[in-house]
Amino acid sequence: MLAISDLSARYGRSVSALRGVSFDLPDESIVAVLGSNGAGKSTLLRAISGTLGLHGGQLTSGHIELDGQRIDRLDPAAIVHRKVMQVPEGRQVFGRMSVEENLRAGGLATEPGKRAAARAAVLELFPVLGQRLDQTAGLLSGGEQQMLAIGRAMMAEPRLLLLDEPSLGLAPQMIERIGEVIAEINGRGTAVLLVEQNAAMALQLAHRAVVLEVGELALAGDAAELAASEDVQRLYLGGQ
Ligand code: ATP
Repeated sequence: MLAISDLSARYGRSVSALRGVSFDLPDESIVAVLGSNGAGKSTLLRAISGTLGLHGGQLTSGHIELDGQRIDRLDPAAIVHRKVMQVPEGRQVFGRMSVEENLRAGGLATEPGKRAAARAAVLELFPVLGQRLDQTAGLLSGGEQQMLAIGRAMMAEPRLLLLDEPSLGLAPQMIERIGEVIAEINGRGTAVLLVEQNAAMALQLAHRAVVLEVGELALAGDAAELAASEDVQRLYLGGQ
């Protein structure tokens, strides 16, 4: 579905953030992206969603194909139109708007006739949002805001969901719930590219995983195999 070839990116003149990264994301799969701080994980998601330029970055080589068509020269709106949705790190819900208004904003790219069904599916996925539709989004708990951020993206009925650190700053129980939701979303046919510091959670959920180290692809493969590898255990799973 998504094919990334020889992708390099930089910020300004001096900061090289990705160097020659290549991997594929098969249809309807979950691919985890692991790596320490500054490895280039967010840059990779920004490159796919077309938002790199908004952060002062640019691609310097390579390409990104969605179903065989290049998307790396498209603007963010055109990429949303192709049903690729990003949930950025830090959630970034519209804090002063209600839950309902946030969801409505997420549905703007969806055909009007499909919005009610998308909303019903999101509320089925996140019943808690249904109980808080009139609440100001900024007053939700961190976990609820993460659910709203994912729910808002799901209003666009994405084929590919790009998640940047969805477990960041959440309590263990909420992390577990977010994991269940990601599995459920994937079970309904949406592919997921999951950037996570929580490698244990990510490797449990994902079919495949890639590891970035200072902008380069260090490892790639089946998630269960990577979880069993000594390097991954030592570096990312807290093993010896
Ligand atoms: P983290 O988990 O800390 O967010 P990451 O793996 O997502 O890390 P990136 O945020 O993609 O890493 O950063 C990759 C490199 O690019 C780092 O050296 C970082 O300092 C730099 N970088 C990221 N965003 C910008 C920006 N907007 N302007 C300049 N440099 C940036």
